[in-house]
Amino acid sequence: MTTSVTFLGTSDAQGVPRIACSCEVCEDSQQVRTRSSLLVMIDEETILIDVSPDFRHQFLQYGDAKRLPTHVLITHAHNDHIAGLGDYSDLCYWQQLSSTLYAPPEVIETLERRFPYIQPQRGTAMVGTREMMMKDVSITFHPVSHGYNGMANAIVFTHDTFKWAYLPDSFQLTMGQKQPLYGCDHLIMGTSYYHETHTPTAKRSVYDVQEAVELAKELSIPKVTFTHLSHAVDRFRDGEYIPSHAQFAYDGKTIVMGT
Ligand SMILES: [Zn+2]
Ligand SMILES: [Zn+2]
Repeated sequence: MTTSVTFLGTSDAQGVPRIACSCEVCEDSQQVRTRSSLLVMIDEETILIDVSPDFRHQFLQYGDAKRLPTHVLITHAHNDHIAGLGDYSDLCYWQQLSSTLYAPPEVIETLERRFPYIQPQRGTAMVGTREMMMKDVSITFHPVSHGYNGMANAIVFTHDTFKWAYLPDSFQLTMGQKQPLYGCDHLIMGTSYYHETHTPTAKRSVYDVQEAVELAKELSIPKVTFTHLSHAVDRFRDGEYIPSHAQFAYDGKTIVMGT
């Protein structure tokens, strides 16, 4: 069994370049980032994690039309993680693809309110759950603190030989919230800034890179990849300062898990 992960998008909610910004990162054509989303392939199964507002553009660029995602997992119902859901469900409708969207029940409730037409008209079923199996992989949702922005979820993939987790939006995890992450071989974490000093802690919502490196160390996770990067992260410049077991993702990057 092989799991590969392709980053469809790696930016924070505002995208890079930001509108009306002329900073160095926003002007660097090699650091264009769209809103965060992952395409996960477990053998022939294709799973989309979060449906970014940029989904259509992302899939045209990095997806495979012969492998449309039939399973969708949602970490939380913030605009930058779900706004492409209308486009995705239209795609399923026109391609006569029956698909299932999985998320914890409270996330499904919000999605049903925001996209009331999707289930009856478009054939994308929504299932409220915190656990599922795909092939031999157990997939579980775990609530995590998203700081000032409330709550989100980590998604943990556990196989006999490999365990990894995706948590794009999290901050100040409690001891209990850290538990499911122990034993991970690879952590994919959202870090909007390299070192976030300008926002008071009470108003923050996502770990910065330095804190995430510390968290991975505390959890003894040997490999970490950062995503959900704002224009304040220069992946070339800041890449010089992160430890060798850490890396920055970029749009289109693929990782084969366990290698
Ligand atoms: Zn986000
Ligand atoms: Zn969020």
